[in-house]
Amino acid sequence: MDFIPYSTQSISEDDVAAVLAVLKGPFLTQGPTGLAFEAAFAERHGVAHAVSVSSATAGLHIACLALGVGPDSLVWTSPNSFLASANCALYCGARIDFVDIDPSTRNMSVEQLEAKLRQAEAAGRLPDLVIPVDFAGLPCDLVPMRRLADRYGFRILQDASHATGASYLGQPVGSRYSDATVFSFHAVKIVTTGEGGMVTTQDDALERRLRQYRSHGMVRESADLEAPADGPWTYEQQVLGYNYRLTDLQAALGLSQLGRMESLHAARTRLADRYDEHLADLPLSLPPRLADRQSSWHLYAIEVEPGQADRSSVFAALRAADIGVNVHYIPIHTQPYYRRLGFRPGDFPAAEAYYAKALSIPLFPAMTDAQQDRVISVLADALTGRAP
Ligand SMILES: *Cc1c(COP(=O)(O)O)cnc(C)c1O
Repeated sequence: MDFIPYSTQSISEDDVAAVLAVLKGPFLTQGPTGLAFEAAFAERHGVAHAVSVSSATAGLHIACLALGVGPDSLVWTSPNSFLASANCALYCGARIDFVDIDPSTRNMSVEQLEAKLRQAEAAGRLPDLVIPVDFAGLPCDLVPMRRLADRYGFRILQDASHATGASYLGQPVGSRYSDATVFSFHAVKIVTTGEGGMVTTQDDALERRLRQYRSHGMVRESADLEAPADGPWTYEQQVLGYNYRLTDLQAALGLSQLGRMESLHAARTRLADRYDEHLADLPLSLPPRLADRQSSWHLYAIEVEPGQADRSSVFAALRAADIGVNVHYIPIHTQPYYRRLGFRPGDFPAAEAYYAKALSIPLFPAMTDAQQDRVISVLADALTGRAP
């Protein structure tokens, strides 16, 4: 029996040819293919600027810096996310806190956010930045968040690592409502460059700062210099930046993948529809579907209801049948590192309750119906207590 991973990359012959063509050319690091990838990504996402980075983690870090996050800042994110959504604030020396999720979307709850903002205002310590996360590829509810951001004076950095190409109110994620949006091109995500990421923004000044932080804090354009240029070779370091550049080899893969994104989405959506249909009668909660937004279906995350079955035994039964299930996510605040910052289990009960039930079952573009049928049948047996 073949092993079925929970996710895996989809690489075509065209993808391979695109990388080889760059490998044989003059630019291996940042060059014209990187610019072409940024332009194509910006166009597809309906946004003025796209800045490529070496990972989404790097993108979150420099987006925080470019948005002014520093040691005096307070940043809030969702506990139901990958570690990077919170770590980025700590890289900048900021304080981190969390806003609990809405169990029906598994994304940051707008009601909880509003309640926490009211308390924070009364206590005189409002957040400077909020990082909502598009869990599993389902866009978060940005219109009310934008209203709260304008009222309480914080910026929004959307972690759309799961949501490349997803849409909200008929418009691509990353185009509106957030100040900046970060996407991941890790191998398990919607579009891959091996490692890589993108930051989008409509703000020209923010774009310039992102490019500066991406490459050592340097500028070269004469209009950007603080002092008169010594000559045409002049560059200035004005802030402390990093080397977070994406190579042209990676950009070639990303550009080729982006060209196939609609078919990659269609394959994921078809499999998600098929899961919905075949799992409907099992004692499970299926992923949310909302009329005003379209998921990219990065994950198909189900909830095993505790009164009905035990998540750990279902997980074990699937793994025993060579099915690569996974759990997304262990709430960030319960990690040992975050406990040492003062967070405790019980702090964000909705994220913790979701975690206790969560199971991500395989979903990737090349998954066959036969593979999916095997997942469905092993899952059905595990839930109804039948031996495989
Ligand atoms: C994958 C992921 C990241 C980090 O992406 P990298 O490109 O691996 O750095 C950040 N946030 C979320 C929600 C992710 O899923």
